[in-house]
Amino acid sequence: MEVNKKAKIKPYIKKSEIKKRIKELAKRINKDYRHKKPIFIGILNGSFIFIADLIREIEVECEVDFLKLSSYGDSKISSGEVTLLKDLNCKVEGEDIIVVEDIVDTGLSVKFIRDLIMTKKPKSLKFVTLLYKKDIAKLDFPVDYIGFKIKNDFVIGYGLDYAQKYRNLNGIFVL
Ligand code: 5GP
Repeated sequence: MEVNKKAKIKPYIKKSEIKKRIKELAKRINKDYRHKKPIFIGILNGSFIFIADLIREIEVECEVDFLKLSSYGDSKISSGEVTLLKDLNCKVEGEDIIVVEDIVDTGLSVKFIRDLIMTKKPKSLKFVTLLYKKDIAKLDFPVDYIGFKIKNDFVIGYGLDYAQKYRNLNGIFVL
């Protein structure tokens, strides 16, 4: 996608850097899950590009499913409320689950997802996120695999939107 200069979009993380980092994350996941068959759960819509790239670096037998949560709408700030728009279709009980997020901001979404998935009794539950806003996220559990720790900027591209636009940008940008 051609970047509109008037929209004040600044490059932040290049596609080549993302690609390199995904390979590193996948290497760790492949090692940690070498005797397991994890189920990757992508959080829609933002994680669709990240999970597509990550999954192609995964060498262990695995499944993929999706959860859809409410988004920020046209705002850049979390409403503080998370609702479930699409539940899982896979079996969770007794399975090794890896949740794939695009970005952890306040941490509300991952907390919501964790509570939801824990009621389904997985064997294990881990989180991978491409981006993590280190000064904002308040979590009482770890995010196991983090691509990039970033500042409190509103970012777009590589699946991340602003008012449903910019998901097709080939890299991460600051709006
Ligand atoms: P949290 O619940 O951690 O506050 O926010 C998580 C969700 O909010 C992400 O999955 C993403 O959809 C959205 N979000 C948070 N920060 C950003 C951002 O900087 N840019 C975009 N495009 N979405 C964000």
